[in-house]
Amino acid sequence: MLTLKCPYCGVQACETELSPGYEAHLKRFGPGSSDDDFETYLFTRPNVKGVHFERWRHAYGCGKWFLAARCTTTLEVFGTYSAQTPAPPAEIIEAIKSKRPDWSPET
Ligand SMILES: [Zn+2]
Repeated sequence: MLTLKCPYCGVQACETELSPGYEAHLKRFGPGSSDDDFETYLFTRPNVKGVHFERWRHAYGCGKWFLAARCTTTLEVFGTYSAQTPAPPAEIIEAIKSKRPDWSPET
């Protein structure tokens, strides 16, 4: 079972207390963008096998949204952080690289 620590209330919450919000750090395209960019933004999501950054909501806890870095194949969690963070924090990147030396943010 997936367990994530809510960065706001500090509770170690199992997945039944959480609601998924899909991909984190999504680049948004709105009015004025090309049709291809807007279509990709709306409908195209990577099906990542490995390290993935996701949005989660502590639905049956504090109710706040947060972000998590985890491995989709092993469910290993590298860390959680505030949903207002525009890019993964350095300590999360270091945690991932210490366990996955071949990983880079672009992969
Ligand atoms: Zn919480």
